[in-house]
This record gives sequence, C-alpha cells and structure tokens, in this order.
Amino acid sequence: MTLHIAGAGMAGLCAAVRARELGRDAVVYEKGDRPGGSMLISSCVVWRYRDLDEFRNECPGGESDLQTQVIERLDEGVSWLRLLGAEVVWEETGNPRTVGVRFDPRSLTDVLVRAAGEVRLEETAPADAGPMLLATGGFQGDRELVREHIAPGGELLVRSNRWSRGDGLRLATAKGAALSRGMGEFYGRAMPAPPAAVPEERFVDLAQLYGRHALVLDDAGNEFTPDSVSWSEVDLVQSIARRPNASAWYLVDEEALEVEIRGRTVREMVEAARAVGGDVLLPNELGVEIPGAYRYAVHVVAGITHTIGGVRIDPQARVLDGDGRPIEGLYAAGADAGGISAGGYASGLASALVFGRIAAETAASS
Ligand SMILES: Cc1cc2nc3c(=O)[nH]c(=O)nc-3n(C[C@H](O)[C@H](O)[C@H](O)COP(=O)(O)OP(=O)(O)OC[C@H]3O[C@@H](n4cnc5c(N)ncnc54)[C@H](O)[C@@H]3O)c2cc1C
Repeated sequence: MTLHIAGAGMAGLCAAVRARELGRDAVVYEKGDRPGGSMLISSCVVWRYRDLDEFRNECPGGESDLQTQVIERLDEGVSWLRLLGAEVVWEETGNPRTVGVRFDPRSLTDVLVRAAGEVRLEETAPADAGPMLLATGGFQGDRELVREHIAPGGELLVRSNRWSRGDGLRLATAKGAALSRGMGEFYGRAMPAPPAAVPEERFVDLAQLYGRHALVLDDAGNEFTPDSVSWSEVDLVQSIARRPNASAWYLVDEEALEVEIRGRTVREMVEAARAVGGDVLLPNELGVEIPGAYRYAVHVVAGITHTIGGVRIDPQARVLDGDGRPIEGLYAAGADAGGISAGGYASGLASALVFGRIAAETAASS
C-alpha cells in the first residue's frame, strides 16, 4: 500500500527515499510552493550527543527510548545521506559535547527530492488516504496553538518555514493521538526585535547568541536571566518568550563585545541587528537604573524555530493513543513527533532523519 507523507522537509523526504529503497510506494504532499521546509533555510548541522547519558543529562524531560534511537541510528543515517550524494561542508560540529556533520542545505534538499519520487507541491494529503506519515514540521507557525501550549507574553517571531502550522498535530489528535512531553517548550533564538526586518534568509546570521555574556532585562527593566544559561541558550529564549512582549534587552560591555561565538564576535552580531533596523541603544536611553557599565542595549524578541512537544510516538515512529497503543497506519517524525528533546535542546534535523527513516521501515514491514 502507498505511504502518504505530509511534508517535504527533512523527515518527509528521508522517509520517502527510504520507503522507495524498501520497495514501498510513497507520495509526498507539500503544502508550500517549494520542498525542503525549514531544512533548506537551516544551518544544516546534523548532530547528536556523544552518548545516551549525555543526551539524558542535557534533555532530562525527553523519552529515553526515543533518545536511544537517535544515539544508535544517527550515524548510519548520516552515512546514508552521504551515499545519496549530499555535500558535507564541515566534518565536525565544532562543539565538544556533540558529534555530527554540516551539510550544504541546498545540496541535501536537491539530493533527497531527486530520490524521493513523487513530490506534489502546494497539496495536502487527502484525509484517510491510507497509511500516513505526519512530517509537517511542528506547530510554531500557528498562533492559537502556540498561545495554548507555550503561553508567550507576546508575539513570537516565527523563525521557521512559513507553512508549519500544526496540521500534523491537529490531524493526529483528531484520530485520538496523545500529546508528548514538553508541550510548552520550543527551540529558538533571540532575534532583533521589531522594527527590525528579519527575512527568512537571514534567520541564521541575525541570531543574537550572546545572552550568556549579557545583562538581560525585560521591557520593564527587570533582570530575569535564568540561574545558569545553557550552552544552547534555549532556556533563556524560552524565558524571554514568557516576559511581557516576549522581548528583552541584552546589555553588553566592551569586554563582551569582543567575545567570539560560532565564528562571529558579539560586536558583529550587534551591528547586524542595527543594520536591519533593530533597536540598539545606549544603556542610559532605556530610562531605568542599570547596575554596572555597559556599552549597548540591544532589543531582542524570542524567535521560535520549532516546537519540542508534539504527537507522542513509540520507537518505531508509530503514533500512540491516550492508552499508549499505536494508532493503525499513523506515523509521525520530525518536529511533529514530540518529547525527544524535552527539558533541553537536541538536533531537530537528526531526529527528523532518524524517525523519518524508521517510519518508512515500520510502514514497509506492516
Ligand atoms: C534558521 C534555522 C536554522 C536551523 N539550524 C539547524 C541546525 O543547524 N541543526 C538542526 O538540527 N536543526 C536546525 N534547524 C531546525 C531544523 O531545520 C528542523 O528541526 C527540521 O527541518 C525539522 O524537520 P521536519 O521534517 O520536521 O520539518 P521541516 O524540515 O520544516 O519540513 C516540514 C514540511 O512540512 C510542510 N507542511 C506543513 N504543513 C503541511 C501539510 N498540511 N501538508 C503538507 N506539507 C506540510 C512544510 O511546508 C515543510 O516543507 C534550523 C531551523 C532554522 C529555521
């Protein structure tokens, strides 16, 4: 029977290619006018923690049997992408906690689309078409679902492809699917706040990645940095989301401006925010008492890249109902499948690759 796949991003395309390898017909439906989803506009670093203990340590709220699959099956997934011909641009992640590679996102998308077979753009999968894989990329683009589950203090900047609006989640829950852990969590970045103009091709280089080196104040001038900000700063971005207007001021001193983070200095990140019309003020222009001497105050807003909670799946990528039983013929992968990195942050591309391939294997053997 044909596997119907909703979403031509990382998870959906990997599933289609794997299904065809296993002799199973697959059709990919893509709501947008191009394939690739957020994968195409991402930094495209596909990575995992070194071992399960480290993964558990970093993402303690996640399901350990799903995390085990990522640890055990990512490397073969990466080798498989290489064999398909995807171009690798970095052989390592540059982060001692993790192992992985960086692909060229355009090459990866093109290679997968070529091998995926039928990809129908600007179409959604027919309801009840038969076995279906939900790979629609999460619910970050749907204000109502974001309000319900994440409860931000203002409008988040949607830092993802513009079509991921919770279609997978809605379809699955209508069929009785259970929700995963971590429904209120998301992966995101602090971005220049409005009136800054932040087009999707600048999502990577406009990220303001220096919250750990800044004094962080909310719009009312209250300091609120979490006790210890994690290396990914996801915890800080989630707390910014819950402050008034979902925004904050990052105050940086001369020393912080020279710190280099992932190949760029803080000064360069601040200047990039200013250049797109972001508010970069002198601290005394904020109108609040500031403890210490700072050079600039940069206005940032929480940007949401993808949701961490979603549909609950088992290690075979089968969607589970409220009693923990698989719903026949329904699979989920990528950001639609939740609870893998709850409590922290892990590579969304890695889980999309791993569970996309697993979903195809499970469907092929059913
Ligand atoms: C700027 C940026 C940088 C990033 N950097 C990294 C990184 O370096 N490493 C990493 O691991 N992750 C990174 N990510 C996250 C990563 O891109 C996602 O985790 C990954 O793409 C998720 O895969 P997915 O298949 O679930 O979703 P996507 O790849 O986004 O694909 C989902 C697809 O579903 C489509 N769709 C939505 N609704 C429907 C529907 N009803 N029917 C049919 N199609 C539908 C969408 O249009 C989209 O094409 C980054 C993301 C962004 C935006």
